[in-house]
Amino acid sequence: MKYIFITGGVVSSLGKGLTSGALGALLETRKLKVRIQKFDPYLNVDPGTMSPFQHGEVYVLDDGAETDLDLGHYERFTHCQLSRFNNLTSGQVYEHVIQKERRGDYLGKTVQVIPHVTNEIKARIYAAGEGVDVLITEIGGTVGDIEGLPFLEAMRQFSLEVGKENVLFIHVTLLPYLKAAGELKTKPSQQSVAKLREIGIQPDILVCRTEEPMTEDMRQKLSMFCNVEQKAVIEEMDVKHSIYELPLMLSTEGMDKLVVERLGLKCPESDMTAWNSIVRRLVSPKGGECKIAVVGKYIDLQDAYKSIYESLAHAGVGNDCSVKIIRVDSEAVEAGGPEKYLADVDGILIPGGFGDRGIEGKIMSAKYARENKIPYFGICLGMQIAVIEYARSALGLEGANSSEFNENTLYPVITIMDEQKNIVDKGATMRLGSYECRLVPETLAYKAYAQETVRERHRHRYEFNNAYRERLENAGLRIAGVNPKRDLVEIVEVSGHPWMLGVQFHPEFQSKPSKPHPLFCAFVAEALKFSKSRLEK
Ligand code: GLN
Repeated sequence: MKYIFITGGVVSSLGKGLTSGALGALLETRKLKVRIQKFDPYLNVDPGTMSPFQHGEVYVLDDGAETDLDLGHYERFTHCQLSRFNNLTSGQVYEHVIQKERRGDYLGKTVQVIPHVTNEIKARIYAAGEGVDVLITEIGGTVGDIEGLPFLEAMRQFSLEVGKENVLFIHVTLLPYLKAAGELKTKPSQQSVAKLREIGIQPDILVCRTEEPMTEDMRQKLSMFCNVEQKAVIEEMDVKHSIYELPLMLSTEGMDKLVVERLGLKCPESDMTAWNSIVRRLVSPKGGECKIAVVGKYIDLQDAYKSIYESLAHAGVGNDCSVKIIRVDSEAVEAGGPEKYLADVDGILIPGGFGDRGIEGKIMSAKYARENKIPYFGICLGMQIAVIEYARSALGLEGANSSEFNENTLYPVITIMDEQKNIVDKGATMRLGSYECRLVPETLAYKAYAQETVRERHRHRYEFNNAYRERLENAGLRIAGVNPKRDLVEIVEVSGHPWMLGVQFHPEFQSKPSKPHPLFCAFVAEALKFSKSRLEK
């Protein structure tokens, strides 16, 4: 059993999560079994209560854990199975330690960061390693942050316990490019490594994030000042086209070879065939292009709809075509009308969301898609929007809404789930995680999945109101998927429209470049068709 710890230096948003995911992918190409986990030093128990402005997307696992979006990268880059035990926050550590203290488990001792907090962290490293060859643990934040110290201390102790030959420390750092000086600078990296060494951690590998290629001189300098072998100074340039180039890039730099040598891992050489083919399809697709509008309220944020954007890219791989994403602000649609923003797109996707800001703009976009027969994919809130729009237009239920946005609506076609009614706490209380969905034959969904039952991940409090089911069905809304245990509507489709589909779940959490999600694939295929017919016209 081998352990890799990944820390970050100089600045946040270095792409440590991507580096961890890509390293995991590389080790898998050598037939090693890996698991990747993340430790986040903040005090929230999980990111589920954080705003997208603070934290980007909340990623949901099969078991219903609301986790950091980096776990999304881990699942997309590798085949590892993750659970709520793979995203540890300081909030969870302290919660657990304090519960134990209240129970009297510490037998009269003074409870302290060392050893009680660090023991708790180490226990999570041991537990997560079971059943795999290599466990990669990424530490969130930047070396030098006060709140990250207990995690670094725990790593140091851990490597002493399991033997240094079984542990590898990788430090991801930034080489800023100074335009005026015309060169990359190494000093911030030197200082951040010095900070690590102060706590007793010597990185084995230095991954240098840079916009410009490094010179041999710089590698030498970094090697000397940071006390890292020269061949262990790895260059990680910004990727040109896609994040999925990263495994290839790191492989060219010899990163996986270095890691297996250092850890004494016995494994075959890497086989990059699959990654080469994925990247070929991303970089030079053969099958044309389609434009997909994602209509949301966080369009300026890189990370708010991360898994959606990724899944669209995967569907591009699946269809061997280019998918151009147009980010459309739902409030702008509300103000300026859909025509202005959606007239030349080939598909409209409405992602998940909470709260009433921009809702009417989303409803207008769904109406526009339905009337103009533009392929439409509604995800979670996007499905609810399609239902509201249909109730208003096809049934003439004026003011139909979700009770989330108008508690007093006369026609609550989307309503709070029974079991949600008395819940007051916000953390981890939604309908979360993987549930079964039975598909109805001869629907678009059934065709796409080519399966009778599927499991998909959820994160919502409101649902399709079955009191309106019959009327909506009679008016042409097709129920294409249902949760069999509780008869909850999971998928709706609009008859007479080539491809208008809404799902109450989040398919974007189960898509990978190596296994694009069937619904995203079908949606993009339909958008491609639409784009071709538009060009012909
Ligand atoms: N706000 C809606 C609900 O809670 C949709 C949630 C979502 O899109 N994830 O049901």
